[in-house]
Amino acid sequence: MKPVLPPALRRLIELFDQLPGIGPKSAARLALYLLQTPPQFRQKFAAAISQLDQGVVTCSICFNLDDQDPCHICRDESRDRSTICVVEQVLDVIALERTDRYRGLYHVLGGAINPLAQIGPDQLHIAPLLQRVKDHLEVKEIILATNPTMEGEATALYLREQLAKIRPDLRITRIGHGLPMGADIDYADPETLSRALAGRQTLE
Ligand SMILES: [Zn+2]
Repeated sequence: MKPVLPPALRRLIELFDQLPGIGPKSAARLALYLLQTPPQFRQKFAAAISQLDQGVVTCSICFNLDDQDPCHICRDESRDRSTICVVEQVLDVIALERTDRYRGLYHVLGGAINPLAQIGPDQLHIAPLLQRVKDHLEVKEIILATNPTMEGEATALYLREQLAKIRPDLRITRIGHGLPMGADIDYADPETLSRALAGRQTLE
């Protein structure tokens, strides 16, 4: 039997289908939707995707994404250099920046410790974080803002131990107050996140 859709359309559906949170039905819907948009929109869409490789770099200090290295947050002289907020993903930086409350720096781990998925400390940007606090004695506080999930908690616990070993003078705090257990930080609304940040507790 001949496939119903032309190959160009099928290719696009297959690609959409590989994106997280999109099943085959949504993939087909999106592809057909794009087909109905003006050609200029599709060109803009295609150009935005192809420019991702040149226009986006990972910050060599905090592993945030930006168009320059170091990123605009690490470069910003007005930010509080005594505090580093440690998060799992770039999406968490976006969520915390949206609260408009936090004025310190960040460190993006690139995930959380998850033995089942074979993600250990070496797969995350943990060594650069430890080096960072070793090199920068002006850092006084580390806020552990990993997700309140099993993996996020395990990661926070591990980081607390490692950080305390190399810099016993550091204040190590854990965000969490008001965040529902098992939730992702990037899903929290700015108000809840602001409260979680303000209510952070020192880890003994
Ligand atoms: Zn940075």
